[in-house]
Amino acid sequence: MVSHREPKTLQQAIVFFSDYANCHAAVVAIRWPDGVVKCPTCGSENVTYLENARVWKCYAKHPRTKFSLKVGTIFEDSAVPLQKWLPALWLLTNCRNGISSYELARALGVTQKTAWFMLSRLRLALQAEHGGKLDGHIEADETFIGGRARNMHAAKRKRLGISQSRSMVGKVAVMGLLARHGEKGSQVRTEVIRNRKKHQLEQTIGENVTAGSTLYTDALRSYDRMAQRGYIHQVIDHAEAYADGQVHTNGLENFWSLLKRAIKGTYISVEPFHLFRYLDEQAFRFNNRKGSDAMRFALALKGIISKRLTYSALTGAELPQTC
Ligand SMILES: [Zn+2]
Repeated sequence: MVSHREPKTLQQAIVFFSDYANCHAAVVAIRWPDGVVKCPTCGSENVTYLENARVWKCYAKHPRTKFSLKVGTIFEDSAVPLQKWLPALWLLTNCRNGISSYELARALGVTQKTAWFMLSRLRLALQAEHGGKLDGHIEADETFIGGRARNMHAAKRKRLGISQSRSMVGKVAVMGLLARHGEKGSQVRTEVIRNRKKHQLEQTIGENVTAGSTLYTDALRSYDRMAQRGYIHQVIDHAEAYADGQVHTNGLENFWSLLKRAIKGTYISVEPFHLFRYLDEQAFRFNNRKGSDAMRFALALKGIISKRLTYSALTGAELPQTC
């Protein structure tokens, strides 16, 4: 991307990416950082750009010698132009509470259904590539998300005939781990878990946190054996206080409140099956909160280019034509 022309606000982003030349430059810069366009099928550099058709032609002998910028990305096979994909990605990465398919549809002039498919593809780009286990000072906590009656007032719930127990239906347990003092500030990682039992929490922590790390948790009994598992376990009993010096889980509490606000305010209800994608989306914005809008956008765009296989594997189906 030409740095001095990089958009800094949403309004600028919509105007900037309405020009195909800017979309082209942005995607080329991420896909081929050395500026040399290579055929995605055979890797050859012997290619010519056909300006009018907006495709390159590879001179090697193989099927599909013509390729667009979208080939080999999660935009492949999509009829939606880059002039809509890129502002959508900008919105998703930079709106604090995320964006609903309704808002996106209005902003881009596409149908809500198309906007919904666009968002689910774009969220893939925000999935973190986990760089091994966390270490150092780690907060661990769990929460429950979802359930349609979750944020409903008791009186309204009663009026609608939804019992307390039924309001638990559809709730999903989520484990959060937050590494303090990272280079980019504290970094969070989330995982959908089956329950909050000892075995499950020990397994998730074991897979994600290096033994020897300092682990901060509340007084939930499921964490009882953390010291035996090789962690320096510091417990804050929330019945007594929320913090005792360094011993607290306030970093994660903050993340949970951001996440819940986003789900409540923007997404209305999140089906359990889709929840992990919303978690990744929120974690992406949180973990990159110290960067600029342009930096988050560029990082997400890199994700789009490397995630094509993930997308195919995830859907296992034909991509919708409208999207
Ligand atoms: Zn080729």
